[in-house]
Amino acid sequence: MAEDFYCDEVLSGKTQVNRVLETENVLAYYHTRPFYPVHIVAIPKKHISSLIALEESDNELLLELLGVIKKVATMVTEENRAC
Ligand SMILES: [Zn+2]
Repeated sequence: MAEDFYCDEVLSGKTQVNRVLETENVLAYYHTRPFYPVHIVAIPKKHISSLIALEESDNELLLELLGVIKKVATMVTEENRAC
């Protein structure tokens, strides 16, 4: 297993993923080994080793990430409400 699956496999395109939503700096896709009926992962396209490593200059990226998570959560909620 790649040490940094997100950068080495997903963002590099080595591992194909089923995209849910993508913006300039964020990618949301269906987990490749889901634990739940709906399991979606949202990642920044910039390598960030941990929350502790976040810098002030990453604030906009964090907002964009939260925005994507909110949109995806809304989509999933509506889809599940429909059925
Ligand atoms: Zn990375």
